[in-house]
Amino acid sequence: MPMMSARMSQLGTETAFEVLARANALQREGRNVINLGIGQPDFPTPEHIVEAGRKALADGHHGYTPANGILPWREAVAADLRRRHGIDVSPERVLIVPGGKVTMFFAIMIFGEPGAEIFYPNPGFPIYESAIRFSGATAVPMRLHESKGFSFTAEEVLGLITSHTRLLILNSPANPTGGVVPKDELDQLVAGLARHPDIAVLSDEIYGEMVYDGQHVSLTTYPELAERLILLDGWSKTYAMAGWRLGYGVWPAALFPYAERLAINCHSCVNAAAQHAGIAALTGPREPAREMVAAFSERRDYVVPALNALPGIRCVNPGGAFYAFPNVHDTGLDSRTLQSRLLDEAGVAVISGTSFGALGEGHLRFSYAANLQALTEAVRRVGHWLETEQR
Ligand code: PLP
Repeated sequence: MPMMSARMSQLGTETAFEVLARANALQREGRNVINLGIGQPDFPTPEHIVEAGRKALADGHHGYTPANGILPWREAVAADLRRRHGIDVSPERVLIVPGGKVTMFFAIMIFGEPGAEIFYPNPGFPIYESAIRFSGATAVPMRLHESKGFSFTAEEVLGLITSHTRLLILNSPANPTGGVVPKDELDQLVAGLARHPDIAVLSDEIYGEMVYDGQHVSLTTYPELAERLILLDGWSKTYAMAGWRLGYGVWPAALFPYAERLAINCHSCVNAAAQHAGIAALTGPREPAREMVAAFSERRDYVVPALNALPGIRCVNPGGAFYAFPNVHDTGLDSRTLQSRLLDEAGVAVISGTSFGALGEGHLRFSYAANLQALTEAVRRVGHWLETEQR
């Protein structure tokens, strides 16, 4: 085997893809598996968006574009941010990239190196911890508290800061917990950060349009963070466009050239035709996206009480995204065992909480990006398995 760099041993992965592969293998063997492991909307991309992509191909958009994305698209992002958050963002600070993950990776590469500390939510999206370790930085977990609807506490986070801390990663609404950080917690954190002007913040708001109780509070609405806030957002969730690979970052002016340079070194630009589909998503009818959120809300209202009725399971009501993160401690089985036995024996694919960090032990992630019929059958199967097979 050729000799690789030592940092390769630090790179983690996303178990969701492994569970998906195992579920598919079982299905090929003729087993009936309900897949609640998946982290993407179960709806197709709305037709007017698909049509815009098709038209762009027919119209000959086949070449490179500017690395940061075509101007009408960046303008559409700025207009969308004004509509949603009431903020003014120059399109010059918008860097369009192939998916939400890219902004995360770039931010971590910009700040991470041996000796630096980067804070990340735990349990949280697994790529944060993986990419931080890969950069050589120390990954410092910010504990999310089940008793607080899976929010961090600002006091605790501020207390962890040292002279080595460079970047805080926040994610609300969150994967895998569905947790939403309350505004007063954000207020306290932002106020405390005034004492640490050199620390940057990456706010992953990719589920920002999927909030069921109240309003999403974007960190972009705190002017005091403007010089050091990186906003991560994209099209994968809101517009059911995960496979199109479209996302964006809004960068402070001083950091933008570095992020753009990473883009030029890495992918040159986003798929040209897909850029036109991305514009259509932001400027076209909003009804399809609204209907999807309404469906997720209805499913949440079914699945959370249904999970709470199962033996050994209790589930906090998630405020956003499309995940429930029940506590399964009282089943007496660890999360990973439950994940594999529920898949193999009950035919339900869910993800072990430990796939989202060590602090996810005792939990499973159920994605409710599946129709009500599938959710009902999945809950029935899990309930039956817990009551019978386990013993
Ligand atoms: N951030 C969070 C919290 C996510 O859950 C995901 C995807 O699951 C992403 C970012 C990445 O999104 P994308 O598929 O657009 O790269």
